Amino acid sequence: MYPPNFEYYAPTTLDEAIGLLDQHQGEAKVLAGGQSLIGMMKLRLAQPAALVDINRIPDLSYVREDASALAIGALTRTAELGRSDVIRARYAILADAGREIADPTVRNWGTVGGNLSHGDPGNDLPACMLALNAEYVAQGPKGRRTIPARKFYQDSFVTALGPSEVLVEARVPRAGPGSGSAYSKMERKVGDYATAAVGVRLAVAKSGAIEGAGIGLTNVGPTAIYAAAASDFLNGKTGSAADLEKAGELAASASAPVADNRGPVEFKRDMVRVWTRRTVAHAIARAKGGA
Ligand SMILES: Cc1cc2nc3c(=O)[nH]c(=O)nc-3n(C[C@H](O)[C@H](O)[C@H](O)COP(=O)(O)OP(=O)(O)OC[C@H]3O[C@@H](n4cnc5c(N)ncnc54)[C@H](O)[C@@H]3O)c2cc1C
Repeated sequence: MYPPNFEYYAPTTLDEAIGLLDQHQGEAKVLAGGQSLIGMMKLRLAQPAALVDINRIPDLSYVREDASALAIGALTRTAELGRSDVIRARYAILADAGREIADPTVRNWGTVGGNLSHGDPGNDLPACMLALNAEYVAQGPKGRRTIPARKFYQDSFVTALGPSEVLVEARVPRAGPGSGSAYSKMERKVGDYATAAVGVRLAVAKSGAIEGAGIGLTNVGPTAIYAAAASDFLNGKTGSAADLEKAGELAASASAPVADNRGPVEFKRDMVRVWTRRTVAHAIARAKGGA
């Protein structure tokens, strides 16, 4: 099916892009990698009057670590997450997730900003950003603002981003000593969206106690879910088998899956329990330098 007619703009500055979005008063959409938007337009699930293609705007594709954060530019292709040395060494959750998204074509076209902005509960990167306690930098007609990832996802395909705002950067708090993270995805076949997936970030102190735990869940609710009770529970624990089991149970309670062709509700919830246990164990092993 072909999409209905639309205007196409290819601005070369962010200000120009924001001006075009503002001019169309909610009827225009940003086009980044096009891997979600174009498909939705072909199915007529999205019918924007105009597309504002941000691919010609320079300086939106980068991975940089400074004293306080890892910054990822919105136009960074998701394939880059699995290739970046700093991400692989210190933010392995993002490398894990980057390798699990769809197939090489989608990963090479799709962008980090698009994956985070789309608000699809099946997208893998939002749960990672929830686990990492990331912030998103958005730029609109009134300037820049920072939105915590944990406040960004409001409902399926509904986010805190305004219609004239462009997500320009994701900022992840810098990984400190003893940090470890991991992302595990259960999928029906390679390239599929998750049946259930779990992202974990934590640190292990010299005493052996877990600190700063964060757990995010993919595709088991209307949005990516921050499993707050499971995350809080882990802090101060040593990661014993009983701790992992309890964290898994708490994460499963935070999930709200629906039955579909990926499985019934009980199965998905149990997958959250099992994969939380395993992914926490993997993150602890990485934090201790053992994986
Ligand atoms: C076959 C297939 C399988 C897939 N499987 C997976 C999977 O397993 N896991 C996964 O995570 N994803 C999957 N995807 C989705 C893919 O990762 C998309 O690339 C991603 O969801 C959107 O990124 P994009 O850059 O292509 O955004 P686009 O498709 O260009 O845009 C998506 C939405 O985000 C908005 N947007 C984009 N960038 C910005 C920005 N910087 N600021 C504001 N709004 C913006 C657009 O206006 C649009 O509403 C799959 C896609 C396909 C086609």
